[in-house]
Amino acid sequence: MGTAERINSSQRTLPYVEIMDSTLRDGEQTNGVSFLPHEKLMVARMLLHDVNVDRIEVASARVSEGEKEAVRMICRYADQIGKLDRVEVLGFVDGHLSVDWIADCGGKVINLLAKGSLKHCTHQLQKTPENHIADIKETVEYATSKGLSVNLYLEDWSNGMKDSPEYVYQLMDELSSVSTIKRFMLPDTLGVMNPLQVIEYFRKMIKRYPDIHFDFHAHNDYDLAVSNSLAAVLSGAKGLHVTVNGLGERCGNAPMASVQAILKDQFHAKTGIVEDQLNGISRLVEGYSGIAVAPNQPIVGENVFTQVAGVHADGDTKDKLYYNELIPERFGRKREYALGKNSGKANIAKNLEELGLELTPEQTKRVTQRITELGDKKEIVTQEDLPYIVSDVLKHDAPEDKVKLISYVVSTAYGLKPGANIKVEINGQQYDGSAVGDGQYDAFVKALRYIYKKYLNRTFPILANYQVSIPPGGRTDALVQTVITWHYNDGLLRTRGLDADQTEAAIKATFKMLNIVESNL
Ligand SMILES: [Zn+2]
Repeated sequence: MGTAERINSSQRTLPYVEIMDSTLRDGEQTNGVSFLPHEKLMVARMLLHDVNVDRIEVASARVSEGEKEAVRMICRYADQIGKLDRVEVLGFVDGHLSVDWIADCGGKVINLLAKGSLKHCTHQLQKTPENHIADIKETVEYATSKGLSVNLYLEDWSNGMKDSPEYVYQLMDELSSVSTIKRFMLPDTLGVMNPLQVIEYFRKMIKRYPDIHFDFHAHNDYDLAVSNSLAAVLSGAKGLHVTVNGLGERCGNAPMASVQAILKDQFHAKTGIVEDQLNGISRLVEGYSGIAVAPNQPIVGENVFTQVAGVHADGDTKDKLYYNELIPERFGRKREYALGKNSGKANIAKNLEELGLELTPEQTKRVTQRITELGDKKEIVTQEDLPYIVSDVLKHDAPEDKVKLISYVVSTAYGLKPGANIKVEINGQQYDGSAVGDGQYDAFVKALRYIYKKYLNRTFPILANYQVSIPPGGRTDALVQTVITWHYNDGLLRTRGLDADQTEAAIKATFKMLNIVESNL
């Protein structure tokens, strides 16, 4: 029996795990990320109201006036919905300064940053443990007097346990009896732990201080943030710190969606999180932060519910052969069947059927062929692209084209204008032409124009409008739609081309136009 089976079969039930989201504080420390105050409010709103995390850490005290404004807005909002006690601000052991800053914003909770390793205490702070403990107590007392509740971070706790456990115990012995400290938050600040160490150190802490509420705060430097979070919970941590999309300094923190899925599926733990909001919050933070989520990021990545190989779609229709508990709808998403060079016939047929499109076997074959071609050129084509592909393919059903593109080369070189060399067949006769232009497509059209004028002595419709877009509902990247409007016979003629390549799409639209013109002669 494999490990996963053993865990599942043991059906262990964990108590409630508190989730604290630090996207707006630790997450914002991601290189290049800075949220505007109203963006912070929108994220906080969604976290508290829709995702329903237990607590959010929204800022570091004393950072800036802009930050103050954001914290004020969040506190005002949280107060309105009765959740002000869930909003936390990181503060420092600095006498009255941080506490006053937070109180001034209307905040009710300070997450006080104390030193969790002897090295940080003596080298960085240049204090003796006794002095540091006295300073912490003073700040805690002041916070309490101002009506703030206090959680205490032991910064660099992981190294503290490794190199100076006596220091950690000295600190805890002195502070665990301070009744106004609600939680002790144990961070792996430098992301150096592995799950076995997390288990060992947490067990030591919990054995010594059985009544204390400990949070664990992971960093992902060894790609172990999620595993370490679980190890902490298994060893008695009552709360976990996460961020949306795993944002955070260096390699970031534990991603909320992954932590949630694994807590629930692998360990049958309870949290307050509303799972079908996880994709929404991921997209919101992705947009505001400008940090793209990797396409293969579990739960929230673009491709994780897109099945590419035809055999899977086949298995899905047959007997749910590829089933697991990570169902996309659970997280507010939908399964997609990618259409590409690996799509089997079953895959494409299933997609056509879902769209209610009935095609003849011959048409299906051509659609499949077209998808394979597109798949060879670029990324993933999905069901949403399918209607456009079908209409593109079927429009080619027009009787034998009178104007055909035989071959072409377009070129761009530094310091030179783009050029085009083309060979076309018009009513059975082949012609060559070349031209330079302001862009590749412009050069292409000029070469065509040259052929029409020189060999056929005919005018060529004037371009009125040129529009490039991604088909509505379709994916970025996979397909480009070009709609070109031409002046023709005192009116306008509009044609459309679809391709993975923008110039190709425009060329297709142009040939559609030329064939319409040719058959109207
Ligand atoms: Zn951190």
